[in-house]
Amino acid sequence: MFRSNFKMPMLLLLAIAVLFATTELTAATGANTLAVCGCGKVFVPDQNTLYIKSGDKEYACCSKGCHDMAMKDPAAAARMSEAAFRDKLTELNSLKLAVANVTAVTEKGTKALCGCGKEFIIDETTEYINHEGKSYACCTHACHEMATKDPAGSVKMFKEKLQARTM
Ligand SMILES: [Zn+2]
Ligand SMILES: [Zn+2]
Repeated sequence: MFRSNFKMPMLLLLAIAVLFATTELTAATGANTLAVCGCGKVFVPDQNTLYIKSGDKEYACCSKGCHDMAMKDPAAAARMSEAAFRDKLTELNSLKLAVANVTAVTEKGTKALCGCGKEFIIDETTEYINHEGKSYACCTHACHEMATKDPAGSVKMFKEKLQARTM
């Protein structure tokens, strides 16, 4: 049995929830972590990413334009960032992004195991197949195309790969 299904949505939310907690770490290491900008854009901060500080938190800005705007009123920008972040969570929830093939949540992002056996990091370009109320993240567009042709068969593959990994 695939008993950890229930934990998956929580893991995903956790992965997103740690984004703000780890922004300082991200700034230092350039880790491949997703962040939500105050403008609502989800992006991957890199060494060129600009941050604003409000209270004891840092907020990553998606562009210099957003950073310039945010610098004018960091407190308001921080509120917008938090609101955009909450919207994202709601959006993910409403999408029922119960990703069943998540294997680990690291500071680099949320890892998933594709039906082809490849482990990859979920980002905003990741495509999902849905089967029996669960979502499975596919590592590439090609894998997603394959999987949509035969969801039941490919979900079996996903489960086999996951089981093989946990044994
Ligand atoms: Zn922005
Ligand atoms: Zn794949």
